[in-house]
Amino acid sequence: MMDIDDLLAFDRAHLWHPYTSMQAPNPVYPVSSANGVRLTLADGRELIDGMASWWSAIHGYNHPELNQALKTQIDKFSHVMFGGLTHPSAVELGKKLIDLTPAPLQSLFYSDSGSVAVEVAMKMALQYWQAKRESQRTQFLSLRGGYHGDTLGAMSICDPVTGMHNLFSNVLAKQVFVERPRCRFGQPCTEQDIAPFEAALQTHHESLAAVILEPIVQGAGGMWFYSADYLAKVRKLCDQHHLLLILDEIATGFGRTGRLFACEHAAVIPDIMCLGKALTGGYLSLAATLTTQHVSDTISQADPGVFMHGPTFMGNPLACAAALASINLLLESNWQQNIAEIESGLREGLARCANFSQVADVRVLGAIGVVELKQAVEMKSITEQFIQAGVWVRPFGKLVYLMPPYVINREDLNTLTFAVTETISQLS
Ligand SMILES: *Cc1c(COP(=O)(O)O)cnc(C)c1O
Repeated sequence: MMDIDDLLAFDRAHLWHPYTSMQAPNPVYPVSSANGVRLTLADGRELIDGMASWWSAIHGYNHPELNQALKTQIDKFSHVMFGGLTHPSAVELGKKLIDLTPAPLQSLFYSDSGSVAVEVAMKMALQYWQAKRESQRTQFLSLRGGYHGDTLGAMSICDPVTGMHNLFSNVLAKQVFVERPRCRFGQPCTEQDIAPFEAALQTHHESLAAVILEPIVQGAGGMWFYSADYLAKVRKLCDQHHLLLILDEIATGFGRTGRLFACEHAAVIPDIMCLGKALTGGYLSLAATLTTQHVSDTISQADPGVFMHGPTFMGNPLACAAALASINLLLESNWQQNIAEIESGLREGLARCANFSQVADVRVLGAIGVVELKQAVEMKSITEQFIQAGVWVRPFGKLVYLMPPYVINREDLNTLTFAVTETISQLS
């Protein structure tokens, strides 16, 4: 085995990390083990994890039940193609997902990552309209401040500025964007708040295939929480214009906002729903796109009679087994109470930040706490400060945020919020 210095030198010279330069990479920290809510670095330092590995590790790391589910599946088989074959893990997980999501969603497509689940959702909408002989419907309407992934189709519906993809703007399909909802979560949505959305539908509904958005919480595009009322009004307007509504629950799914799925805050049922991130409890990459029988029948009845997508690792048995175990673990736990306790811990722990002149806004919803600063942070130095404080927190731009594993206890949560508060208080 390479020693740590060699390992870091190779990593620095050859491995791209998310959104980084090969010539001037930011420092990376080698992890040697992870248990519960703690990451252990190669030099022995222990960090309390405030990120749940980007929304995914909801049960913490190295969980015995998830480990066991994978070992059991591995001893049967790790992978078989999903073309022409099926297996119990895919079927049982499918049954579970169809049971848990809104009742009209009855057809499920597995894929390997969130971005692909979004591509699949977009293709479903396009094929639906082709089947209905309205193939001029090729555009998507989405919200400013949204984030839906890094592949070409998904990039086209991300916020053109905060979505990090403006570099590709002359390659990407031109979509319709509406300003992000101004009405906050917990507030009503006025006529004025929904007016921009309504106006865009009026203008563009004939060319639109679907509206796609993140329900209630906009994640990587700005960590913004908006009114459930707004989402309910979006559903109503989509119905009036006979438009499909795609909800991207990749970040919000599996309890993060206090409901199993964020659309439940507004009692809204989508035509197509994307799941990913926490689906496997952070163990493996897996995603799913669900749709109604109406959409799947419409696609299947028209020429060429099939849905045109089929990833190599579709329905991977290991990933499905991990997902099934993760969902069972979640449902057997007292997750609603855990999230409510994290919510109150975040509210109390981050409250002091609202008094700092460098802070623009503090907001908390479910197990998500956000401190929005007036200026972008210097990532390298702030990360080092967090590590000194014994926590793993990775801000981006003006946003310092926490979304810990659901199993975090109050003491560790207090350490996290204290580290964030103290670090921000020292920013000039
Ligand atoms: C992370 C994310 C995606 C993309 O998922 P990947 O697994 O990174 O491809 C899509 N939509 C939302 C809302 C996300 O948070």
